[in-house]
Amino acid sequence: MSTFTSRTRACRECGTDNEHSVAVSLNGDRMPELRDQILDGTFQRFACVNCGYTMRIEDPMVYIDFERKEWLTCFPTVRESEWHRLELEPLEDWKEAMITHAAPIARKMSAGFKVRAVFGFDALREKLLCFEHALEDGLLEVLKFDLVRSVPDIAFVPNRRLRLYAVDADTLWFGVTGTDRTLPAPRSLLTEYAMEPLEWLSLTERLRRGPYVDLGRIMLPLMGAASS
Ligand SMILES: [Zn+2]
Repeated sequence: MSTFTSRTRACRECGTDNEHSVAVSLNGDRMPELRDQILDGTFQRFACVNCGYTMRIEDPMVYIDFERKEWLTCFPTVRESEWHRLELEPLEDWKEAMITHAAPIARKMSAGFKVRAVFGFDALREKLLCFEHALEDGLLEVLKFDLVRSVPDIAFVPNRRLRLYAVDADTLWFGVTGTDRTLPAPRSLLTEYAMEPLEWLSLTERLRRGPYVDLGRIMLPLMGAASS
């Protein structure tokens, strides 16, 4: 079931209060048009009624897709430094709904669910794309790590993170956070990493340690640890 709530936000440009309906939980298989909006980057982008300035409202939201077996809690990007404290939330919610309080038939459905914690709609889109194209999201983070090392003018910093936004037959397309820049990478790299598991073992193990499968685990560990 999808639920929405009304939120009032002041326009960043002119200060006018705007009221918007935003998702608290979203059922992707029941509302494919909203899933499409997440994928094309238009989800919860609203134009100010007074000046037309566009803002994106990124409030916490649970994204569920029973057909694709996806359960993701999307937190606002600004809370990413708290990932230590927040990453288990989707796992606890999922367990409660699909196992603890679930009818036997629902419990049977729980096998094979992908449960993730993400921060921001760009990160949510990235996971949906990964799952749709059967890409292993831990290896995708390895690819980003490798890519950042090999492209000289891209820094390994949280606010310039690479985010997958499109997948072709041979190419993965990344956007560089906070810029208009895009970066292609051969999809075959993922197969190469999978065939060399020992080379990337310590990194992949670290990335897959919890529902927050993101290079942020390496980039943002200390702030999260301090608040937990
Ligand atoms: Zn405005």
